Amino acid sequence: MFCVECGAEGKVYESVCEECFLKKHKLVELPDTLDFEMCKECGSFLVGSKWVKVPVERAIEMVLDEAMSYEKEVDSSRFTVDIIPEDEMNFSIVVECDMYVYDLRTSKELQSRVRLKPSQCVTCTRKKSMYYEAILQVRADGRDLSEEELDRITEVVHNRVEASTDTFISKEERMHTGLDFYMGSNDVARKLSKELASTYSAQEQSSPKLVGMKDGHDLYRVTYLVRLPQYKVGDVINYQGTLYQVRKMATTVSLMNLEDWDMQSFPPSELVGSRVEDCFHLDAVLLAQTESEIQIMDPDTLKTVSIKKPEGFQSSGEEVSIIKCEKGIFIAPSQKD
Ligand SMILES: [Zn+2]
Ligand SMILES: [Zn+2]
Repeated sequence: MFCVECGAEGKVYESVCEECFLKKHKLVELPDTLDFEMCKECGSFLVGSKWVKVPVERAIEMVLDEAMSYEKEVDSSRFTVDIIPEDEMNFSIVVECDMYVYDLRTSKELQSRVRLKPSQCVTCTRKKSMYYEAILQVRADGRDLSEEELDRITEVVHNRVEASTDTFISKEERMHTGLDFYMGSNDVARKLSKELASTYSAQEQSSPKLVGMKDGHDLYRVTYLVRLPQYKVGDVINYQGTLYQVRKMATTVSLMNLEDWDMQSFPPSELVGSRVEDCFHLDAVLLAQTESEIQIMDPDTLKTVSIKKPEGFQSSGEEVSIIKCEKGIFIAPSQKD
C-alpha cells in the first residue's frame, strides 16, 4: 500500500499515510471563546440547560465536554485541561486532547477562553420572587407551641432545606401559636410534614389548592398542617376515663397507666381529644405500708390516704413522690424508662 498524496509506502488511512492523514484532518475543534452563565447569588453554573452547584474547574470541564466537536473518525478521546484565571470571571484554558483514530493514537492541544456571564439561576429567581409550592404549618392541639418546640422544629426545617439542592424557604413566620414555612419544593415540604409527624406524634393533614395551569397540567399549591398533640412527655392525660402519664412520643405514644404502671402504646390518632389533666407533683409523708398498699398523708388536707402499690414500686425513705389530680392521688413513676 502507498499514500495517494505523497507516495510513501506503508499503512494507509483513507488511502493516505499517517502523516498526510493527520495533516488533512483537524479531528477536534473548540470555539475560541466559551461563554456560560454563573448565578451571582449562589455561584452555580448553567451547563447545557441545567444549573449545577460545582467548583468552577468542574463546570469548565462539563462545558468542554459539550463544546468539543470531534470528527466522526475519532473513536475515543479524553482530555485534561489547564485553567489559568485572568480574573474572577475570565479564564484562559489549554486543553490536551488524547484520541484514538482507527488504530492511531494521537493528541492535540487546543486553546480557548472561558468567560463567565453573571446571571441568576432558577432557584434564586424563584426565591427572590417569593415563589412557593407548599406551605408547611406547624400547630399544637389546643395550646401554643413551647419556645423549645418552636426552636427545635425551625432547626429541623432549616437543616433539611440546606441539605437539599433545589429548594429554599421564601418566607417564614414564627408565632406563639406555631410556625409557617413557605417552601420552594412541594416534595421537601411533604417529607418534612411526615418527619415532624412521626417525631412529635402529630397529626398530618394536607390540602391542595388549585392555583392555575402549567404546561397543560393543573398546578396545585399544597398546605401541609402538622398538629402536635395537646400533651407532652410527662403530662397526665385522661384516655377513656383512665389516667395515663405520657412517657414517650414518636410514631406511637407510650402511656403508663398511673394506677398499676402498666405500659401501653397507642397510635397518636387514637388519643386525639384526650384531655390533659391538671395535676400536681408533690412529696407526701409515708405513714405505713403493707405488701399491697401504702398509706400517705395528703399534703394539702393532712388526711391519710391509702394507695394500691403499682407493680414494681419500692418505697425508700420517709417520703413518696405523688401525682395529685382531681381524680385521685397516684404514686409518681420515676422518670427513667
Ligand atoms: Zn502521505
Ligand atoms: Zn442561584
